Amino acid sequence: MSTIDKFNEHIMQSYGRYPMVMEQGQGRRCKDEDGKEYIDFGSGIGTNSLGYCDEKWADAVCAQVRTLQHNSNYYYTAVQADFAAKLCETSGYSRIFFGNSGAEANECAIKVARKYSFDKYGKGRHTIITLVNSFHGRTMATLSATGQDVFHNYFFPFLEGFVNVTANDIADLEAKLDDTVCAVMLEYIQGEGGVNALDKDFVDAVYRLCGEKDILVIADEVQTGVGRTGKFLAGDWFGKKADITTLAKGIAGGLPMGACLVNEKLSGVFTPGTHGSTFGGNPVACAGGLAVLDRVNTPGFLDEVCKKAEYIKNALSACSEVTGISGMGLMIGISLKSKKAGDIAKKCLEKGLLVLTAKDKVRLLPPLTIDYSELDDGLRILIDVLEE
Ligand SMILES: *Cc1c(COP(=O)(O)O)cnc(C)c1O
Repeated sequence: MSTIDKFNEHIMQSYGRYPMVMEQGQGRRCKDEDGKEYIDFGSGIGTNSLGYCDEKWADAVCAQVRTLQHNSNYYYTAVQADFAAKLCETSGYSRIFFGNSGAEANECAIKVARKYSFDKYGKGRHTIITLVNSFHGRTMATLSATGQDVFHNYFFPFLEGFVNVTANDIADLEAKLDDTVCAVMLEYIQGEGGVNALDKDFVDAVYRLCGEKDILVIADEVQTGVGRTGKFLAGDWFGKKADITTLAKGIAGGLPMGACLVNEKLSGVFTPGTHGSTFGGNPVACAGGLAVLDRVNTPGFLDEVCKKAEYIKNALSACSEVTGISGMGLMIGISLKSKKAGDIAKKCLEKGLLVLTAKDKVRLLPPLTIDYSELDDGLRILIDVLEE
């Protein structure tokens, strides 16, 4: 039986998959089971931030697997302490809770925000404002938080206490910031929603209005964080530091890890028993995360991310099918004149290039470590397909 047949017989059909079986990766290229090679401009949806099987990352991960692969959060581990300390130092946050995914990091953020408000103001101040076209995850709470109607089907009842505001509409925000609100949750660049950055004026207004009422700002940086945009956090481009920032995707170089980072004001909100995760802060994932932080913190690394982003934008802007380029750093959305993003992704795949889509755009999230010759090879395929 072929892998695809075996797979489809035993795995629930919740994804539309391309008919290919990925077998091996090295650097920024991977191979399928037929030995066909692909340049990767998607990095597993931004997870493989250092590409495939980066040597230092793999060494760190393997060494940890052979030392202590897991223990429960009833005990301490040095690697979780080291990773948390470095992540706090790099990000400027005070404390962290580790889970295993973006959705879990956001669940944690929602719980922190509601408990902070409950502890201080009592019941009834639990509403979390999220933005239209946002994406916060697939669990019941994060689906409820997600501001897209297509996600609000089948699974009724959804969690109450989420109100949507139109992105960049300050008047709408002002109208909805009533006494029931404990937090505003946003993506600086909406990823799944179409790689759309928020306006600086709107972000300024969120922080100003929330600051006046002790309403928390939660930045969902699951996709934008850990160097993706050319700063460690996308909030750095806006000159803002949210009360809570969530990270996942690229944080551990392709291992499952999510992190909820909080500032000093929130560092005592969780007390023993109020939150937990069996696998959260798993030593192997933390070892991978440390290797990612070491690389991203290397002087000049993030400047290179910005330079590569400019290089991609320059190459694409000469292409007549491209009507616009959005995003920041190596999180890039490409608007098309007449072609369909899904068709472009399929044709790229046939020609040996992996790209993503987001709504009607082609989306690129290449590994942060991609080099210029790989960019040239991938861009040649992409531009050929766009101009076909
Ligand atoms: C991918 C994503 C999530 C969900 O992350 P999972 O690891 O799939 O749970 C949440 N928020 C944003 C902004 C994302 O891009």
